[in-house]
Amino acid sequence: METILEIQNLSHSYHSPEGETPALSHLSFSVQKGEFISIVGPSGCGKSTLLSLISGLMEPEEGKIELKGKRMGYMLQKDHLLEWRTIYRNIILGLEIKHLLTKETKSKVQAYLEQYGLLEFANARPSELSGGMRQRAALIRTLILEPDLLLLDEPFSALDYQTRLTVADDIGQIIRREHRSAILVTHDLSEAISLGDRVIVLTKRPASIQSIVPLTFSLEEDTPLKRRNAPEFKNYFNLVWKELNGK
Ligand code: ADP
Ligand code: MG
Repeated sequence: METILEIQNLSHSYHSPEGETPALSHLSFSVQKGEFISIVGPSGCGKSTLLSLISGLMEPEEGKIELKGKRMGYMLQKDHLLEWRTIYRNIILGLEIKHLLTKETKSKVQAYLEQYGLLEFANARPSELSGGMRQRAALIRTLILEPDLLLLDEPFSALDYQTRLTVADDIGQIIRREHRSAILVTHDLSEAISLGDRVIVLTKRPASIQSIVPLTFSLEEDTPLKRRNAPEFKNYFNLVWKELNGK
């Protein structure tokens, strides 16, 4: 196995005139190439802080983050599509900025649009699309830059339940098909279990690792939706629930 991300003894606090807010405390874990890691934890425990540190948006106060891959993709709760650009022009924004807009990348965009059912919306504005379609467009915008590691911060939580199930299923399968490594932060245990290879359960703030639960399903076709109906699902749910509540 090839390690793509190694985190050692990571701690971080926020400082303000009012005082210190410890957010992360001595976290260590690694992510293998092609692995999908789900992270769950109580609201406000430090999940987004962890992703911001991994993405390099902030410097850790203590500990080490070693990223073996070069490129990182970030997908957030809000899709951040620009209303004044068409879907196509939103998707190519990153390519434009990085001067990577070539004949090859353009035809890759085309292939993604087709594959993920957005071709006929290429010239539409974001507001003309459903929440699920917008999230798919945001994912294409991220994938087109071929990230070695995808960081997903509650990317489905703005969607209604029904859409959320299908989009999570969709996106989970896309990430696997493309052999991407991903870290998904979510407060939804079912989502974490249906998508991950392992679930990392964090304690309340400052987050430390409560436990890491490996997930294996005896499914012929291992998809997020099929997992939800698998016999193992309930046991994993109960296990993660217990861990989340400190056993
Ligand atoms: P989560 O994503 O798990 O809900 P966050 O990582 O966003 O949690 O926040 C963890 C804690 O750090 C919270 O108490 C939050 O208020 C605090 N926090 C987050 N960002 C900042 C910041 N920029 N400055 C000060 N405190 C912050
Ligand atoms: Mg958060």
